[in-house]
Amino acid sequence: MKTKFYIAFTIAHITTYSALHSAVFPPVWGFFAHKLINRLAVFTLPPEMAGFYKKNIAYISEHAVDPDKRRYSSKYEAPRHYIDLDVYGKPPFHALPRKWLDALICFTDIYAVDRSGDTCLLIDRRGIALEEKEIAFRLHDRLLSSKDTVRVSRKLYTDFYFRNILPKQYEDEHELPIDSFKLVFPGLAEYEHLISVEHLSEHGILPFHLQLMEKRLSAAFRSGDNGKILQLSAEIGHYLGDAHVPLHTSRNYNGQLSGQVGIHAFWESRLPELFSSEYDFWVGAAVYLPESENTYWQIVSDSHALVDSLLVMERHLSLNFPSDRIKCPEQRMGATVITQCEEYARAYHEALKGQVESRLRKAIITTGSVWMTAWVNAGQPDLSKLGIDKESINEQSVEAIESGSAIPNFMLGRPEN
Ligand SMILES: [Zn+2]
Repeated sequence: MKTKFYIAFTIAHITTYSALHSAVFPPVWGFFAHKLINRLAVFTLPPEMAGFYKKNIAYISEHAVDPDKRRYSSKYEAPRHYIDLDVYGKPPFHALPRKWLDALICFTDIYAVDRSGDTCLLIDRRGIALEEKEIAFRLHDRLLSSKDTVRVSRKLYTDFYFRNILPKQYEDEHELPIDSFKLVFPGLAEYEHLISVEHLSEHGILPFHLQLMEKRLSAAFRSGDNGKILQLSAEIGHYLGDAHVPLHTSRNYNGQLSGQVGIHAFWESRLPELFSSEYDFWVGAAVYLPESENTYWQIVSDSHALVDSLLVMERHLSLNFPSDRIKCPEQRMGATVITQCEEYARAYHEALKGQVESRLRKAIITTGSVWMTAWVNAGQPDLSKLGIDKESINEQSVEAIESGSAIPNFMLGRPEN
């Protein structure tokens, strides 16, 4: 028998704060949390923004899942959806610089290629120390002892990195000019060119990518680029949704290191699918974020702080629950799947004490706040003259959304886990 899920929700509307609606939806296994976050974030916006976003709410919602679709076509996409904070030690993760360029510098090896084609590791990322005004490198130049440390002005090297390394870093094959490098590190032996190998992305770049996306959205507001504003808004909502999911911040992202494989989808899909009808989505009004960079780090830090408890609770529950009542067969989209039994899911959901609901609510209000922040930083341009995306809906449909009959059901985070 096909199970039906019922979703009731409330919408915070900045102008009226009055909408409290409910709706019934058929079950669909997909990207629904992302769509819901974007859709409800529209109702947190100030009046100067709300009109434009409401006109385009269908686009904003539908395209909330574009970044996940792109994961299979771009090798650079996947790391934007998570950050394995626990590979950087214990909170507050001092080993991880908060600024993207600083972090790239600290996690990039630079190889030198000489005239004979031999490659040697010139700058080993493990020997880089970022200090206040300087960067200390252990250069493995043949003319230097490997223990020799070279100190370079942080500004000078950051500028060099930005101008010379970064533009080529993500090309499949790249050779860096040696001349500019020698301006920073004079006296090096003769090399033909350099190659950089970036290791930051191996453990995810989510909070760095949010910083970049917000700046791009501000630029789109400044230029009045309708299509870009919509695309970037939709995608920022996606990445913020991911950032609020605890298991997007841990290398044990699917319980594979603790014998709990499948817990990712259990937490972010199964639980909201079953219990979102009990959630309160009245989240209030978007706010300006004066230090949004810190906000992004705070979000992933807060998410990460929940990882241990959600794992421990599930482990404890699984050891104390009748083993034949943990997994159950269920019909889904015409196929039988084995998933967590509803009774077991409810016991876990109760043990989590509102954790899923709380993270979802925060994702909604933060998405609205980041859109608003990008708009304020762009000088609060007039959005009333911007158009409606052709995929978007008409005014009648906006009414349907506000009355609650057009909100989709949802799933949190990445579907493949
Ligand atoms: Zn994602």
